[in-house]
Amino acid sequence: MYEKTIAFIKELYGNQDFTPLSVPKFVGNEKKYLEECIDTTFVSSVGKFVDRFEDDIARYTGAKKAVVCVNGTAALHMALMLAGVERDDEVLTQALTFIATCNAISYIGAHQVFLDVDKSTMGLSPDAVKAWLVKNAEIRDGQCFNKNTGRRVKACVPMHTFGHPVRIEELANICNEYRIELVEDAAESIGSKYKGKHTGLFGKVGALSFNGNKTITTGGGGMLLFMDEELGAFAKHLTTQAKVPHRWEFRHDYVGYNYRMPNINAAVGCAQLEHLDEFIADKRATAAEYVSFFKGIDGIEFFVEPENCFSNYWLNAVVLRDKKAQQTFLQETNDNGVMTRPIWELMNRLPMFEKCETDGLVNTQWFADRVVNIPSSVRL
Ligand SMILES: *Cc1c(COP(=O)(O)O)cnc(C)c1O
Repeated sequence: MYEKTIAFIKELYGNQDFTPLSVPKFVGNEKKYLEECIDTTFVSSVGKFVDRFEDDIARYTGAKKAVVCVNGTAALHMALMLAGVERDDEVLTQALTFIATCNAISYIGAHQVFLDVDKSTMGLSPDAVKAWLVKNAEIRDGQCFNKNTGRRVKACVPMHTFGHPVRIEELANICNEYRIELVEDAAESIGSKYKGKHTGLFGKVGALSFNGNKTITTGGGGMLLFMDEELGAFAKHLTTQAKVPHRWEFRHDYVGYNYRMPNINAAVGCAQLEHLDEFIADKRATAAEYVSFFKGIDGIEFFVEPENCFSNYWLNAVVLRDKKAQQTFLQETNDNGVMTRPIWELMNRLPMFEKCETDGLVNTQWFADRVVNIPSSVRL
């Protein structure tokens, strides 16, 4: 049924026996910088590449401060703590996300509330958030509470799905109105912008990921983004065991975390970042090829960046007609050497989260039944 699509994707990626979904690209200074780490013995959590990677990412994104973490999940955990989320608080988020978003919330002992996504972004819908708050929230002593559970609603965590920015400005306004902290899961959206501003900068803190399948990689890694420099400095303190600076004494003034990114990972990050704009231009060119191809294909819609947004097109996505078409597409592509994957199983369907509160999740379910990710690697 999907022969034409399979042939097109194979050709796009040079007719290999197997076309993977998303693999990293190393075309620059990665080896050189790694060699420098080894030659200087600075392989661990202190080193010039750590500082440089933070500065480079801050400059690239426009953040006032950037703080490296061991991975995106740790960055999210830290972000939620910095936002003041505590045990038994509620956190508003989307069910259509990768597990890391929800795991980070659970590490704190907070409760996920799953709200619907927008058809235009695949990310958390300001309309859904507003509707839920109007129905369930009350403000007491300057804080937001869920009238039904009595729990404090402390934070809202939208995720920029596949690199496509959510309607983040509207979400920020709603969070302001209801005294809720906005924490952006920007793990998939490095380089993606909403009205010219980099994702991850609209709330209290944003989190990036540099896992191997992301747009640029450090092997494993993450980054916290801040517009509040002081909070960023505190994040650096907490992620480095909260050690009080001193030439030889070991004194720590908080329960800190060993969430530092080693210098060897940061070295790879510095080299990758030198090519990020090229990678994104390449990914956007691939997306443009998909757009024109799928115009002529019945029953498959290619998902494009929302209005007013610049997407990094991290993972390309198509929307099939229904669940049955989705399953057939997955079967045929994977049987024929083209790697494709369905969108994640919805969080509210996993055993850990099946008792969490949800709204109708109408669009969420609609996407879950139809979306498939197709090959997206940089082609350069
Ligand atoms: C990749 C990703 C993360 C972070 O993952 P790590 O592998 O820990 O870096 C978090 N949230 C989303 C939505 C992601 O896609």
